[in-house]
Amino acid sequence: MKSRSIAVNIGNRTIGGGNPILVQSMAKTDTRDVVSTVNQILRLEEAGCDLVRVAVPDIESAEALSKIKSKIHIPLIADVHFDPLIAMESISQGVDKLRLNPSNIQDEEWIKKIALAAKNRSIPIRVGTNLGSFKKKPDNPVEALVKNALDEIKILESVDFNNIIVSIKTSDAILTVRANEKIAELVRYPLHIGITEAGPKEESLVKSSVGIGCLLMEGIGDTIRYSITADPIEEIKAGITLLRSLRLRKGGLEIVSCPTCGRCEINLFEIVKQVKEEFEEVDIPVRVAIMGCVVNGPGEAADADIGLAGGKKSGVIFRKGKAVRIVKEEHLYSAFRDELKKLIESKK
Ligand code: SF4
Repeated sequence: MKSRSIAVNIGNRTIGGGNPILVQSMAKTDTRDVVSTVNQILRLEEAGCDLVRVAVPDIESAEALSKIKSKIHIPLIADVHFDPLIAMESISQGVDKLRLNPSNIQDEEWIKKIALAAKNRSIPIRVGTNLGSFKKKPDNPVEALVKNALDEIKILESVDFNNIIVSIKTSDAILTVRANEKIAELVRYPLHIGITEAGPKEESLVKSSVGIGCLLMEGIGDTIRYSITADPIEEIKAGITLLRSLRLRKGGLEIVSCPTCGRCEINLFEIVKQVKEEFEEVDIPVRVAIMGCVVNGPGEAADADIGLAGGKKSGVIFRKGKAVRIVKEEHLYSAFRDELKKLIESKK
């Protein structure tokens, strides 16, 4: 199938053109504080972050970029608003991509100068349009957002700059989906998708998954960012989980567990919590079913690599649907953990 978008390189990664969808986040530190910023980015890398953006609100932050870049391993993106000189400094510091907001750098001549500087360094520019950046809320937000992005794209294209990524975000999942559907019909540049200012963890997980998930199901979106008012690691975990749920990324531990009900006679919450904590980092594909009783337990276990179904203060452990052990509740987690470890070893 022909890819919707063209491929664009960001440092050592490529998005669009049918390449795997990348998960990104943004550091939440003061960019001038190189040590804290690098430490947070290294944690993000460990969690599976593919691309990282930092805020560059002033020249001092821009001047810290090359130091940060020299200590991290994933592409570094400078997020610049208002001041074109900060954009120019960020480019000369060697960032891998620049994000510009068309609503707040409007001087066409400056945008062209920035584009030429980015072209000299072969780095892409993301045209990042947010509804929140509009001075007055437009009557037709979808049309206004798309026009805003297209106007900026035209300026970049006028100096033969095509190394473009586009994002259109709002804090409303439905508006964001509609605007991205529209821009996806009009341009073939890769799309960065997400719901902006999506709120605290629980709210954002639902709202962002609805918005990003709808678009990905339509084949729209080349890199994703969950915006969560929390540790940025949560954004990466959510992004990776979504991609796995949509079968757009392979690998990792998949836990199928029941909500429990009056039939459950073991502490299933605790077992699931322990499995998640201990095996969260596994990156080979392992499907684990942890079920409260025999109603759905054996059925789910049949589809899983390893399963557990609760009984009377005990549990049955399954491997590929076959019962291998019956264990009393007090030894259930340790027995299940041993079996799971053996399975992971055998899969490596
Ligand atoms: S698997 Fe058993 S314990 Fe779990 S929700 Fe279903 S019926 Fe209840």
